[in-house]
Amino acid sequence: MSSFYRKYRPRRIEELDLEEVRNTLAAGLKKGELAHAYLFVGPRGSGKTSAARILAKVVNCEKPTASGEPCLECDNCRAIEQGSFVDVMEIDAASHRGIDAIRELRDKIGLSPVAGRKKVYIIDEVHMLTVEAFNALLKTLEEPPEHAMFVLCTTEEHKVPETIVSRCTRVGFVKAGKDEVIKSLSKVVKGEGLKLEEGVLELLAESVDGSFREGHKLLEQLASFGKEVSLKKVEEILGSVRGGEVKQVAQLLISGKTKLVLEKLESMEKGGVDWSNFAEKLLDYVRGQLKAKYGIGKVEIEAEIERLRVVTMLVARACGEIKTAVVPALPLEMVAVELDREVEISGGSVRVAKEQKAEVGKLDEKRDEMGEKNETGRDEIKADMVQVREKVSLDEVMSKWDEVIKSLSPLNHSVAGLLRSCRPKRVENHFLVIEAYYKFHKEQLEQETRRRMLEETLKREVGLPAVKFVLGEKAVRAAKVMEEHDNVTAPEKDDKLVEAVEDVFGVEV
Ligand SMILES: [Zn+2]
Repeated sequence: MSSFYRKYRPRRIEELDLEEVRNTLAAGLKKGELAHAYLFVGPRGSGKTSAARILAKVVNCEKPTASGEPCLECDNCRAIEQGSFVDVMEIDAASHRGIDAIRELRDKIGLSPVAGRKKVYIIDEVHMLTVEAFNALLKTLEEPPEHAMFVLCTTEEHKVPETIVSRCTRVGFVKAGKDEVIKSLSKVVKGEGLKLEEGVLELLAESVDGSFREGHKLLEQLASFGKEVSLKKVEEILGSVRGGEVKQVAQLLISGKTKLVLEKLESMEKGGVDWSNFAEKLLDYVRGQLKAKYGIGKVEIEAEIERLRVVTMLVARACGEIKTAVVPALPLEMVAVELDREVEISGGSVRVAKEQKAEVGKLDEKRDEMGEKNETGRDEIKADMVQVREKVSLDEVMSKWDEVIKSLSPLNHSVAGLLRSCRPKRVENHFLVIEAYYKFHKEQLEQETRRRMLEETLKREVGLPAVKFVLGEKAVRAAKVMEEHDNVTAPEKDDKLVEAVEDVFGVEV
């Protein structure tokens, strides 16, 4: 942890950086009505643990001030600040997921405090506790001994059981505003005697997305170059901090290391990050790499144009989605997952699938125009007739169906896999009609290359030259519901996609 953050963290309630938190706790202090259990809710780096330690000092200080604030000088205050006070227990639920820590808490909570007036249990990331641990904690919260105080901290309140929440006094640590971050950083500037060029604090405050911790970390990094901090230096540091991560994430996405991408994004989220800003930089980078493939700029990542194109499109879409996302990290996570799916299922890309769908649509239109008599619309079938047997029964197809799938498997694993969830329905002229139960499967199998591959195998194995896919009845009903739904939402989605593509390639689509 940043030593500036530790050195300049608020030590009394009146020094707390967030106005609302300060007022709430000060009011309790004034009335002498501190709760026996608090739930501190808010993003990382918003000062929850600092505030928890202040409360621990408030209830254990030997010589509190007239307003009830800790003196910061007695043995208890000092020990708590150093993290060595015997009656303050800090439990990190993220690393003590087991029930053991809470069990120990429950077993020992009945014992009187050793050195202070109250035992204070600070449980960080409390939402990470297991169900068993929550139950044990709940029992303790239901009948807390007079000498105990709990401060539960969480970044994800919705994961904390309601039974726990209802027994705590909730304090919301909202994301700090720009002014609050500036005020907090100003203490460091004063304390360290730093000389900042005008605009430096504002720029820092803007870039840390409300995280005091991140702000202190950056300022400390800047101060390591000297007492005078220029705006240019800040821009340099901000650029390189994210610059390394941007390149790293881009590299992982392009090489399809889904798990590593997700882990990296998670660790970034823990450290506090402005996702919107990061995604835009990521887009800039992959777009630059795509252009580099055409000789504009420097190639830094070895990748095929096709792969870069898909990554760029998906990141562009994520940029648009982040602004309205409930979980801001989600759109980028989805990029990684979708890229993974791309490789596994189609081996192609979003646009290839889309274009082929359009072609199938056109083909269907053509068939309609030609009417029933020549519903195939495919001339090559007539030419191939010679090799085709006159009459093939469905039973014959069924008896060889496993063979067909088996011989397809080495050629194309996904076609074989898709066929396993379909079944031959009937033989119509020279067509084998195959029933698919999911619209998605049908669309995948209708793609030109896959259909051809299947037809060649069928011709060889059973003497049928062509296939046609229909949706099973259940699927038809489900698809109708989906289509109705699509009609309402699709235009907006498409517009967004088109916009994103236009943005990326600077062309009209
Ligand atoms: Zn004290």
